[in-house]
Amino acid sequence: MNSTAVTYSVIVPMYNEEEVIEHTYLRLSEVMKQTKAGFELIFVNDGSKDGTVQIIEKIKRNDSTVRLIDFSRNFGHQIAITAGMDYAQGQAIVVIDADLQDPPEVILRMIEKWKEGYEVVYGKRQKRKGETLFKKWTAMMFYRLLRSMTNVEIPVDTGDFRLIDRKVCDVLRGLKEKNRFVRGLISWIGFRQTSVEYVREERFAGETKYPLKKMIKFALDGITSFSYKPLKIASYVGFALSLGGFIYLLVVIWQRLFTETTESGWASIIAINLIFNGIILMILGVIGEYIGRIYDESKNRPLYIIRHADGSITQEQQPAAELEKLRNE
Ligand code: UDP
Ligand code: MG
Repeated sequence: MNSTAVTYSVIVPMYNEEEVIEHTYLRLSEVMKQTKAGFELIFVNDGSKDGTVQIIEKIKRNDSTVRLIDFSRNFGHQIAITAGMDYAQGQAIVVIDADLQDPPEVILRMIEKWKEGYEVVYGKRQKRKGETLFKKWTAMMFYRLLRSMTNVEIPVDTGDFRLIDRKVCDVLRGLKEKNRFVRGLISWIGFRQTSVEYVREERFAGETKYPLKKMIKFALDGITSFSYKPLKIASYVGFALSLGGFIYLLVVIWQRLFTETTESGWASIIAINLIFNGIILMILGVIGEYIGRIYDESKNRPLYIIRHADGSITQEQQPAAELEKLRNE
């Protein structure tokens, strides 16, 4: 491991990334050397089933800046990032995808902003290249839906590609929730935040590791972690329906007493029944999403399990005097 002081930690979550990892390492390393400061590259292997770990182990042998955290199984992207932050030693911590969709060169611009005194610098996607229309469209809808649902200012069109200061990292590590939506948590924490714009490139090789199922889980975590609105909407819908039902009841009674037209036909009753039952089940589902998450919290299992990690979990640090010097340069 690096014996000189680590100023920058770069966290790279990886799930079946054997095709890209060598290339990513080379480009990241190249960029980080330009900072002329101590850095570490933390590769978090999120239970890959391919040769990802073997490649990292090989790289590690010739480069002491590289550290590996190897999970016992796939815990998910957000958890991998969290583990990286637990082990990061740097004064500024960068999270970047393994597939080179986030160009490593942008990190240098983030560092400039950090030296100006910003504590969170997130990458804002000006454009997304080489992604399917479906992905772009669902991402766009998701960010806007999330914004309309929550009171926390979560910037639109930003991913987890960002730099955070040690202070922010330490606070984040204190938030122990299990179904993590890291970018939302960082917004919630506050501090001085700014953005740098960049063009999101095509994946260097391989396929997305976020199939629809993971995307839905991710979106639900984002919304349920920061908003009760779905529950409120459920009760509004329930209220509106019962009001409608009550008014209709009055109409039926009136018809029975004062007119000759008694409604016949059970088809309409069945249809209405099905619709109403459907709505009730949907509302139960919404409640279930929240209860499931409460259940996860109450079990209090660890966030991740590690087979092997280089180094140990970082203790909370005092901001180094060196850092101040660096900033004042
Ligand atoms: N990833 C991970 N665990 C997972 C899924 C993805 O660590 O269960 C990593 C993946 O290796 C990559 C990053 O998360 O470094 C983003 O994934 P991907 O590029 O596949 O997502 P997309 O860019 O398509 O949204
Ligand atoms: Mg990607």
